Amino acid sequence: MAFKALNIQRRDFLKMGSVAIASIAVGAVAGKSAQAAAPRLDEKDPTAQALGYKHDASQVDKAKFPKYKPGEACANCTLYQAKPTDPWGPCPIFAGKEVSAKGWCSAYVKKG
Ligand code: SF4
Repeated sequence: MAFKALNIQRRDFLKMGSVAIASIAVGAVAGKSAQAAAPRLDEKDPTAQALGYKHDASQVDKAKFPKYKPGEACANCTLYQAKPTDPWGPCPIFAGKEVSAKGWCSAYVKKG
């Protein structure tokens, strides 16, 4: 009898352990995604202005940056460090900031 009771306690303890491990795993994933969200690049940032960066590529100053071609955007630039379907992502040109997938700057390199 005592053995059976001990077995149940052990089983319950193992279940509790699994729940605790699952909670820790969920917490770790949530923490990671919160950590990954870098601030968005400000169009008024001096480097952004120097490179003609715009969140909306259609707003690029075509007179100042004639190399811009319609259809070019961060989402299809080699330097975009996120999936093309992600609305914002990191770019090494603007370290520590996220750029818009619909954005563009004069450092654009078409993804091959
Ligand atoms: Fe966008 Fe490419 Fe310019 Fe980075 S280098 S801001 S990904 S166009």
